[in-house]
Amino acid sequence: MLYMPTRIFIETGALTKAQKYITLLGKKALIVCGKQSAEKSGVMADLQPLLKANGISFEIYNQIHENPDLESIITGKELFQRHACDFLISIGGGSPMDAAKAISLAAANNLEISQIYDSSLYQKSFPIAAIPTTHGTGSEVTQYSVLTDSSAHKKAGFGSDLIFPRLAIVDPRYMLSLSPRISLNTSLDALSHLLEGIYSIKRNSYLMPMIYRGIRLIIDNLSLCLKEPNHLPAREALATASLFGGITIAHTSSTLQHAIGYPFTTEFGIPHGLANAMFMRQLMDFYAPSIEAELSTLFDSLNMSREKFYAWLESFPIQVKVDLPTDMLEEWIPTILTTRNTKLSPRIPTEAQLREILKTVQK
Ligand code: NAP
Ligand code: ZN
Repeated sequence: MLYMPTRIFIETGALTKAQKYITLLGKKALIVCGKQSAEKSGVMADLQPLLKANGISFEIYNQIHENPDLESIITGKELFQRHACDFLISIGGGSPMDAAKAISLAAANNLEISQIYDSSLYQKSFPIAAIPTTHGTGSEVTQYSVLTDSSAHKKAGFGSDLIFPRLAIVDPRYMLSLSPRISLNTSLDALSHLLEGIYSIKRNSYLMPMIYRGIRLIIDNLSLCLKEPNHLPAREALATASLFGGITIAHTSSTLQHAIGYPFTTEFGIPHGLANAMFMRQLMDFYAPSIEAELSTLFDSLNMSREKFYAWLESFPIQVKVDLPTDMLEEWIPTILTTRNTKLSPRIPTEAQLREILKTVQK
């Protein structure tokens, strides 16, 4: 089964192509974005005249931080309701896209902060147009929103078909302003999603050609993009890989790879994509005995050995070490092992095995 209700525009000039469909979403938009990237990426300069020309008014909520928290969702919900908005446009990376999805649900179902994760309360939503400015999360084509509950000191996601964006407007020009560091981290996130589509016990054979293609695009274009940030074809390749990664996890979900990464982001501020990449080799090694055939088909299609892939991966600065106190590590183990994502992994580690994996990044 394949399901993808998002209309996807991916090309230079995607916003103009999507214009007609934006006008069908509503009359008053809440634009959800971070402090700077909506301007820096060039999206605002294109979007505002387009909305005005089509008689769509808008309010701007530009206070979304990385790893958005539940409080920011309630602020967004209040703004949406106060200004009688009827749809959302998110501009930015995964953080504003995920925030817009949660605001949509919170506003449509009048959710309080304690109810945001309660999917039994999701009856309806407001439509969303997502304009990504990073090439990592693929959130423009997923039904997930990942938020941080600062009171519980926990990062966790939820999913609902109601929050698939109606439109994904992917223009690689909006990614040219990304710093090399964010370009690297977000591309590694896309790589994780693609690999997890192979790992997940919900893997889907119809997705495999797209997954292999996405991984190939990252391998062929990541170094080039870091050396030449203005290389539009390289950005387009990475934006395509990111989109493929999103379509992948929309079907297979993410796995232990993401469950391990989340606490490193919450506790040590390690960016999401890097938190996944820190454990990419360890997890592929750990899974290998359970998915030998899947990995060998992947590496055949890439015309590359697993060792060569590791050498390529480790040519990037992903070797992060942290000071992980024993009591924290012991507290994390049962939490990681009981997440939904972990249960979808092809091989579930024992506590001792997970401890060994986690200790590989110990200073
Ligand atoms: P992000 O947190 O959205 O943004 C990271 C940084 O990049 C911010 O400082 C942002 O600035 C800046 N930035 C974004 N676009 C830029 C541009 N074009 N030029 C210059 N700077 C730019 O990063 P992300 O990696 O895309 O998203 C990570 C989040 O997505 C995590 O919370 C992760 O858990 C989540 N995620 C969600 C899904 C899903 O399916 N829903 C999948 C994977 C990950 P501003 O602050 O100014 O915007
Ligand atoms: Zn991710």
